Amino acid sequence: MQEASMEQLRGSSHLGGNVAYVEAMYEAYLRDPNEVPEQWRSYFERLPRSTEAAPHDIPHSTIRETFILHAKNKDTNRPKAASAVSSDFDIKQVKVLDLINAYRVRGHQKADLDPLNLMQRDDVPDLQLGYHGLTNADLDTVFQTGNLATGSDNSSLAEIIDTLEKTYCSSVGAEYMHIVDTAEKEWLQQRIESVKSHPKYSAEVAKHILERLVASEGLEKYLQSKYPGTKRFGLEGGESLIPLMDELIQRAGTYQVQEVVIGMAHRGRLNVLINTLGKSPADLFDEFEGRAKFDSSGDVKYHQGFSSNVMTPGGEVHLALAFNPSHLEIVSPVVEGSVRARQDRRKDPIGTTVMPISIHGDAAFAGQGVVMETFQASQTRAYKTGGTVHVIVNNQVGFTTSLQEDARSTEYCTDVAKMVQAPIFHVNADDPEAVFFVTQLAADYRFEFKKDIVIDLICYRRRGHNEADEPSGTQPLMYEKIRTQKSTCELYANKLISEGIITKEEYATLTNDYRDALDNGRHVVKSLVREPNESMFVDWRPFLGHEWTASHDTSIDLKKLQSLSNELNEMPEGFVTQRQVQKIIEDRRKMTVGALPINWGYAETMAYASLLAEGHSVRITGQDVGRGTFSHRHAVLHNQKDGSRHIPLSTLATDDVTFDIYDSFLSEEAVLAFEYGYATTQPNTLVIWEAQFGDFANGAQVVIDQFITSGEHKWGRLCGLTMLLPHGYEGQGPEHSSARLERYLQLCAEHNIQVCVPTTPAQVFHMLRRQAIRPLRKPLVALTPKSLLRHKEAISTLEELSEGSFQTVIDEVDTVKAKDVTRVVMCSGKVYFDLLEQRRARELNNVAIVRIEQLYPFPEDDLKNILKKYKSIEKVVWCQEEPMNQGAWYSSQHHMRRVVRSLNFAHLDYEVEYAGREASASPAAGYMALHVEQQNKMIDDALIG
Ligand code: AMP
Repeated sequence: MQEASMEQLRGSSHLGGNVAYVEAMYEAYLRDPNEVPEQWRSYFERLPRSTEAAPHDIPHSTIRETFILHAKNKDTNRPKAASAVSSDFDIKQVKVLDLINAYRVRGHQKADLDPLNLMQRDDVPDLQLGYHGLTNADLDTVFQTGNLATGSDNSSLAEIIDTLEKTYCSSVGAEYMHIVDTAEKEWLQQRIESVKSHPKYSAEVAKHILERLVASEGLEKYLQSKYPGTKRFGLEGGESLIPLMDELIQRAGTYQVQEVVIGMAHRGRLNVLINTLGKSPADLFDEFEGRAKFDSSGDVKYHQGFSSNVMTPGGEVHLALAFNPSHLEIVSPVVEGSVRARQDRRKDPIGTTVMPISIHGDAAFAGQGVVMETFQASQTRAYKTGGTVHVIVNNQVGFTTSLQEDARSTEYCTDVAKMVQAPIFHVNADDPEAVFFVTQLAADYRFEFKKDIVIDLICYRRRGHNEADEPSGTQPLMYEKIRTQKSTCELYANKLISEGIITKEEYATLTNDYRDALDNGRHVVKSLVREPNESMFVDWRPFLGHEWTASHDTSIDLKKLQSLSNELNEMPEGFVTQRQVQKIIEDRRKMTVGALPINWGYAETMAYASLLAEGHSVRITGQDVGRGTFSHRHAVLHNQKDGSRHIPLSTLATDDVTFDIYDSFLSEEAVLAFEYGYATTQPNTLVIWEAQFGDFANGAQVVIDQFITSGEHKWGRLCGLTMLLPHGYEGQGPEHSSARLERYLQLCAEHNIQVCVPTTPAQVFHMLRRQAIRPLRKPLVALTPKSLLRHKEAISTLEELSEGSFQTVIDEVDTVKAKDVTRVVMCSGKVYFDLLEQRRARELNNVAIVRIEQLYPFPEDDLKNILKKYKSIEKVVWCQEEPMNQGAWYSSQHHMRRVVRSLNFAHLDYEVEYAGREASASPAAGYMALHVEQQNKMIDDALIG
C-alpha cells in the first residue's frame, strides 16, 4: 500500500496524475483520515478551502481540479524554485525520492562502522548525485521530502542529503528495507529518521553510559593486572557491550518483562557476569585462584552460568545466563527453549513476560548452521518466544581468521538474519550513544512486533583470541592499528569532558571507585537486588538430591484408566475422521473394554492421559510427532470435512496442566537443544523429543554430548528430557535401522542418563510414567520400535498397565522349566520376538530368553535375581541385531560378565558369548537377501551356538 501510494504520488505529481486513484484516496480520507497514509493526509489537509468548511464540505470537483492543477505544476503551494524549472523539476523531484530510497536501502554500505577504519567498503554508486542525474547545482533547490521523517515536507537537497548521511551513513548502518511488512518498515523508518539515528541524550544518560564503560574496561584491566596471561577471553575493544546489556535489560523492564535469559559464548562473559548479572567479584577471584569449591566435575569460569535479580523501572527482573559449552552458537536454541518454558509457566503465549538475549561472535554467527535453524524456529508454533534480541560482538576476527573471503560468502556476518526479515543495525562500538540508541530501538521493536532483531556491534579485539595468544603474527596491520587505538571508554570520556558534561576529576573518581569495589570484592551492579523475589523462578528443591532408583510405583486405578480412555475416544460433534484413523479409534475403544489386546499406540497415549490427570504437563515435539512416523500415535486428528484439528489429549488439560504436541520443522540440532533448554527449566513437564528415525539424532550430536549427557555433571543442571528414537533392523538398509545405541552407551557414566529399550506396550507406559512421576530428573534415551508397533506378540493387557511397573529386566515368559534351562539368551529390543519365534518353532525348551529393557544404569541386581534361578545353565549368550562394533556389546559386556561371574554355578562357562552380526562399517546391510542371511545366522548362533 505504502509503495503503491508512493508510486501514485510520483505518477501524479509529474506525469499528469491518476485522478481516479486520488479521488478514491480522498474518499477514504473523508471516511477516516487515518485510513490514508500520512503524506496523503497532510496533502488533503492543506488543500485550499473557500470557507472554513470541514473537509467533508470540499466538493470532489475541487479535489479533482486541484490535483490536475498540481499535476500540471501550477499549484500555488509549490515552492518557488519549482515553478521556475517546470517539468525538469518534476523529473528531479522523482530522482530525489529515488536518492532517498537509495540511502534507505544502501546507506549502511557507506556508514562509518569500523572503529579501526580498516573495513573494506566498495563505492556505492546509488548514493552519488550523478547516478540520479542530480548535480551540486541542485543542492539549494527545495524538494518535497516524501515520507522522509525530517519534520519538514520540503527541504533543500543539501538538507535532505545531510539528514540521510547522518541517519544512514554515520555510526549506525540500518538494514531494514528487506522487510516486506509495511507497518514494520515505516515504524523503523520513523524511529531512525526522526532523530537521524542520533538522539540527543541528557547529561545524566551520558554519565550513566560512561559509568558502564568504566566498569567494562575496569574489570578487564583489573583482571589483566592481577592475573596476567590467564585465559579470560576479555572484552577489550568491545566494552560497549556492557552499557548495551544494561540498557536492554532496563528497557525490557519498562515493558513489564519478568525474566531475561541470556546466552553467550566465552568472549566478554566474565564481564557480563560481574557487570551485568552482579556475580560477586570475590567469587570470580576465587575461581582465578583455584579456590572454587566443587561437588562435580565442573567447568571453566568462562562457561559458567549465573542467576540474579535486578531492579528496573518496571520492577524486579530475574536474569539467567545460560551455562554454555565451547561449541559456539549451540546455546542459542537452548536459551530459546528455556525462555519458552518460562513463558509457558507464566501462561504467556505472546512472549511479553520473558525476553531472550543471544550474544554471538561474528565468525560463529556467519558460520554455524544452528544459527539458521534457530531463526527458522523463531516464528513457528512450537518454538516461538516473541522475538529475540541478538547482539553480535563483532570484533572482525574469528580466532585467527579475519579476511572476509575466508570467513564468509555474505557481505555481513549478519546476513542470515534476513531470512526471517529481522532488522539489522550495524553500529560502531566506539560511538556508545549510537549503541545506546540502537539498543533502545531493538527492545522497542521486539516488544512492538514480537520478532527477532539484530544489533551488530562492530568493535575489535584488543588482545589475541585469549590472553596467552599473540595476534599480530596473523593480523599484523589490524594489530598495528589496535596498538595506538584509544579505548572506547577513553574516547567517550574525552568527548564528555570536552562538552563540559563531566570533569577530568569526575572521570578519575569513577575509575578509582570501580577499582576500589573490586579490591574489596564488592558487587558492582547498582541495580542488583540483594534479596531476590524467589517466586520469580522455579523451585528445584523437590528434584534435588535423589539417588538413582529404577523402580517406582507407576500403577493407576483400572477404572480411572478406562474412563480417561473413554474421554479421549469421544469425538467432537460432526468431526469426520479418515477411514484408517477411525479404525484406530474403534480399536482403542475395544482395548478399553478388554475386547482387544493393548497395542503400543494405546499404551503410550494412556501414559500421557494418566500423567495429565495426575497433574503433569506433557510437551512432545519432533518430526511428524502428531501422527507418528509409523502412524501409531495419531495424537492430532484431522477433520476430513474442513481440515480442522482435534487433539484428544488436550481435552484433559486444565489451566495448570497442559498437553502440547507440535510437529517440528526439519531440524534436529536446534530442536533438540531447544527441548533441552525447556526441560532444564521446567521440571514439572514431561518433555519429549522424538526423532523421525533414531539415526536422525546424529544431526544433534553436539546437544547430546555437550548438554544432555554431561550438563548435570558440568553445571549441576538437572534435566528430565526424554528422547524417543525409533530403532530396529527390518531389512530397510543402512539408514534408519540403527539409532546408534552405542553412542549413548559410550557416553554413560555416573548415572548421567537412562537408556531403555522397552519391548511391550506396558513397558512404554510405565517407562514414561516413571520419568514424570519419580522426582528424579535424568535424561531418558528410549529406543522405540517400528514393526513392533503392530506385532501380534508385542501386546499387553489392561491389568499390566494399571498394576505393573517398569521392569528393567524381563524374564522368560513361556512355560520353559527353569531346571531344564542350560542356555540363557539375553537381548534387548525387537530381536527378542525373532528369537522367541524360532525358539518356539524349534522347541528348544532348554533355552530361556531374558530381555534387558534398561541398558543403563545397567540393572545388575535385577538380572542376577533372574539368572540365579536357572541353576543348570552352562552358557549365557548376548544376542544383538547390531554389528559387533555397534549396539550394546562393547559398552555393556562388563556388566553382563560381572553378573554371570557372580552366579557361582558349577557348569557355567563364565564367558558371555556374542551372537550377532560381524563388525561392520555400515550400520546395516542394504541388500535384503544379505540382511536375511545375517539374521538367520544370528538367531542360530544365539539359540544353538
Ligand atoms: P534460573 O531461573 O535458570 O536462573 O534458575 C534459578 C535457580 O534455580 C538456579 O539458581 C538454580 O538454583 C535452580 N535451577 C535452575 N535450573 C535448574 C536445573 N535444571 N537443575 C537444578 N537446579 C536448577
